[in-house]
Amino acid sequence: MTEKKRTILIIGAGTFGTSTAYHLAHSSSWQVTVIDQAPSPPKQAAAIDVNRIIRTDYPSKLYCNLANEAIHAWFWSLDLQRYFHKTGWIMMDDTPEQDSLSSRVRKTFGDRGSDPTRDIPLEELAQQYEVLKGTETKGFHTAYFNPEAGWCDAALATDNLMKVAEKRGVKRVTAKVVEITIDPAEGRVSGVRTNDGQTYTADVILLAAGAWTSSLLSPLEDALEIADGDRIEGQVQAVGRVAAYYTVSDEEVERCSKSKLPVICYGLKGEVIPPSKENKTFTYRNSETTFTNVVETKSGKKISVPRSQSADDQANVPERLKSETSNFVSSKVAPQFSTNGKEADHWRICWDAVTPTEDWLMCKHPHPKLQNLFLAVGGSFHSYK
Ligand SMILES: Cc1cc2nc3c(=O)[nH]c(=O)nc-3n(C[C@H](O)[C@H](O)[C@H](O)COP(=O)(O)OP(=O)(O)OC[C@H]3O[C@@H](n4cnc5c(N)ncnc54)[C@H](O)[C@@H]3O)c2cc1C
Repeated sequence: MTEKKRTILIIGAGTFGTSTAYHLAHSSSWQVTVIDQAPSPPKQAAAIDVNRIIRTDYPSKLYCNLANEAIHAWFWSLDLQRYFHKTGWIMMDDTPEQDSLSSRVRKTFGDRGSDPTRDIPLEELAQQYEVLKGTETKGFHTAYFNPEAGWCDAALATDNLMKVAEKRGVKRVTAKVVEITIDPAEGRVSGVRTNDGQTYTADVILLAAGAWTSSLLSPLEDALEIADGDRIEGQVQAVGRVAAYYTVSDEEVERCSKSKLPVICYGLKGEVIPPSKENKTFTYRNSETTFTNVVETKSGKKISVPRSQSADDQANVPERLKSETSNFVSSKVAPQFSTNGKEADHWRICWDAVTPTEDWLMCKHPHPKLQNLFLAVGGSFHSYK
């Protein structure tokens, strides 16, 4: 006799939703439906971008262990490895020298039994990498190279994982969830209602809606009269960050690849991701531009929501932010690269769900009527890997 499968409805086909669907698709116990407001790949998701950095460097033992587990898939999984570029990464450290971030990360590596990093004297950066000629190193006290890191084509990798999941029986639906519904008789979540008037039910609901989490949960919190201090907004906020994408020539790709340009973490200020032959894109992500967009709900609650709803909206970055970021790249990060007035030709404000400690919120909802509602959110700008 075959066992009856349990049903799960995953809201959101970004990183957490796609990954959950992919892994559950390898188990015979679940019938999985994933629902997203946009068709695959959902372009407004934080999961969908030209690149995301893949590294294991964390001062926390827990996250270092998890990242080491995750990076195996980037090295070895036939479903992922072709999207991974093992360029290594350089971490330029601008945190206070005593108890610096790099020393804590390297201690964690050492405590696990193997530290793959090596020092790079700051003055040698420009000798090794043409792109870093003229890079401002004042304010940094050290740099190290980790050859075990790199970056991935996040859009293609996410899309492929979802395709594999679908081939293994996962159902992918395109519709915007407008309500998470409760079954009053059973006192549990029954499913969702979508903007096209459909309802979907399941035994278990997983909310993996990233930066849109508060907007989806808030009406339910109103209906259940959840106290202000216990609402999701106190634990997860929608936060946007600016990225600049420069198209480069074949010759420039060749030069970056010849000098083996790795990912560069420019301290807490931003990150450079090198181009590949395929994307011909040099990326700078400005970690200093983080902003929230707070709106008032019909019930008078203040919640954070992504300001831009579509991928086109996200590309519409205010001129002031563009010029601040371009000036920073051309004066500090990569002056050599920016000579001849090179400008970014594509911009994005990408939104993520950020928690106060940057830890994930991966749990069952604590309210007694929401015992079959699970959360997988809180990417906090580091959870694609
Ligand atoms: C600029 C930037 C740079 C980053 N760099 C890195 C990096 O280098 N390395 C790294 O590991 N991580 C990085 N991250 C973090 C990583 O991308 C995110 O943490 C991760 O992608 C979040 O996944 P998620 O599933 O929570 O959200 P998302 O990937 O955003 O997915 C949420 C999904 O929910 C859907 N959704 C929302 N509301 C609804 C609704 N009402 N109905 C239906 N569907 C809905 C959305 O359409 C979306 O597809 C970065 C993030 C940003 C923004």
